Amino acid sequence: MAVVNIDKLSKSVVKGPSLMTGSNPRKPWMEVPAVFKPGNFAYPAKVDIVKYLDSQSGLSFPNAREWSPLDEDWKLPENWKEIILNGLKERLEKFRSLKIFMDCCVRCGACADKCHFFLGTGDPKNMPVLRAELLRSIYRNDFTLAGKLFGKMAGGRELTIDVIKEWFMYAYQCTECRRCSVFCPYGIDTAEVTIILRELLHLVGIGINWILEPVSNSNRTGNHMGLQPHTYKDNTEFLVDDIESLTGVKVNPTFNRKGAEILFITPSADVFAEPGLYTAMGYLILFDAIGLDYTWSTYASEGGNFGLFTSNEAMKKLNAKMYAEAKRLGVKYILGGECGHMWRVLHQYMNTMNGPADFLEVPKSPITGTVFDNAASTRMIHITEFTADLIKNNKLNIDKSRNDYVRATWHDSCNPARAMGLLEEPRYVLDHVVNNWVEMPENCIREKTYCCGSGTGLNTDEIMELRMRAGLPRANSVKYVHDRHDVNHLACVCAIDRATLTSLMDYWVPEVKVCGLSELVANSLVLEGENRQDLSEEGLRTMV
Ligand code: SF4
Ligand code: SF4
Repeated sequence: MAVVNIDKLSKSVVKGPSLMTGSNPRKPWMEVPAVFKPGNFAYPAKVDIVKYLDSQSGLSFPNAREWSPLDEDWKLPENWKEIILNGLKERLEKFRSLKIFMDCCVRCGACADKCHFFLGTGDPKNMPVLRAELLRSIYRNDFTLAGKLFGKMAGGRELTIDVIKEWFMYAYQCTECRRCSVFCPYGIDTAEVTIILRELLHLVGIGINWILEPVSNSNRTGNHMGLQPHTYKDNTEFLVDDIESLTGVKVNPTFNRKGAEILFITPSADVFAEPGLYTAMGYLILFDAIGLDYTWSTYASEGGNFGLFTSNEAMKKLNAKMYAEAKRLGVKYILGGECGHMWRVLHQYMNTMNGPADFLEVPKSPITGTVFDNAASTRMIHITEFTADLIKNNKLNIDKSRNDYVRATWHDSCNPARAMGLLEEPRYVLDHVVNNWVEMPENCIREKTYCCGSGTGLNTDEIMELRMRAGLPRANSVKYVHDRHDVNHLACVCAIDRATLTSLMDYWVPEVKVCGLSELVANSLVLEGENRQDLSEEGLRTMV
């Protein structure tokens, strides 16, 4: 991708108030309408996709139609207002967290400058406090006594079509990363407000294709791309051939094998797209090196769960598929690959929605004997904690110098870091497989990590400029360590990050490549019977 002129980028997406362009708000925020133009919205979902989803059990996606954000008339159903207010009422009764988030914000502003979308666009409505206020103002108006009596004076406003348009704009300029919640003294989770905004919009047929098509594919075939079982298997076997060419070792994965000890589930992007392919090669090499009794599934062929970006119902359904497959195959537990939101769904929602998974066993490493009590109810462990345990127990033959072409920094992917606390394990693994790695500045790592800027299904090309802006804080911190320490690799444990950070680095810091942690682990392994090519320049990415 060409490096676009930064001046052009800084003027092209934001229309209306933006602190970035010096166009400061002249009116109260309620009077500033959302203005749509190509590049600042993702394309609406296709009608047949919405109809398909609406026809599926456990899902509801009514009011499918052709519509465009650029049109004045969004063709909302006649009773749209009633649908939205009833939908909000239902959710306020169902989700206690929503009611609390609507009531307890004191407008202290601690979250205001913590959002990468605000930092990248300068648009005041991208401050988390104001993003939530887009919904809170309707809540106040229609669901509180003060709002009913005093309206605007009590922070309320009437629900209009312009409000719906504004919701669509800003619910899809939030990656649900939860960075803002780290800084909120009340723990208000604006990501959950965004989830509800998106749910309400779906009630009146408003959603984006980049999210709903993967949801539809996952529901139908088990993975985002709609790949059939034989294609999934073939692609994995191409990787087996590549591994043999590079290392001289033939690994032997199995698929849909009943009675295997462990079911391994990872994002389908690992098996189908660069740079995830090298991460998948990493899993294959590692599992073969330790003689793991495991199987892949061509049905639960997706760790990612775009339901999280859609609705609680869709999230629940897609998560349940992994456990249904574990039951069908009769495995003891599930081992999960490098994914972001799969782990957030697992740690924050799975137990309430589908758990506890007590038909499975508490995960116990067959190699070290370690029992992972932290997964006592989900019965699913992360590849990084599994690998860290192998290293700690001296079960891997590692030659760190094999990664000497790498000068790495570590990107804490939002969901593994903030939603599951996976902070020490990847650093421990990096310490043992790479000689050269440095941290980015402390206010943008660990719980305070910056988002890639394109998560929650926003990694679609029609909003590329918006993505590059939203990713600027992350790119800036990578540039910092690149300039000072000559960092050339950005390592992470998330498939979306591997895709989105690659575009982000190409744009802002093109000298830096993006890689998965398991890629680095596998490249450092000394394998039994190996006949390794010269991989000293690019590791598993070497063309032979
Ligand atoms: S969840 Fe992330 S993207 Fe959304 S408002 Fe908070 S910081 Fe911004
Ligand atoms: S930090 Fe929390 S309480 Fe303060 S303005 Fe933001 S959401 Fe409201």
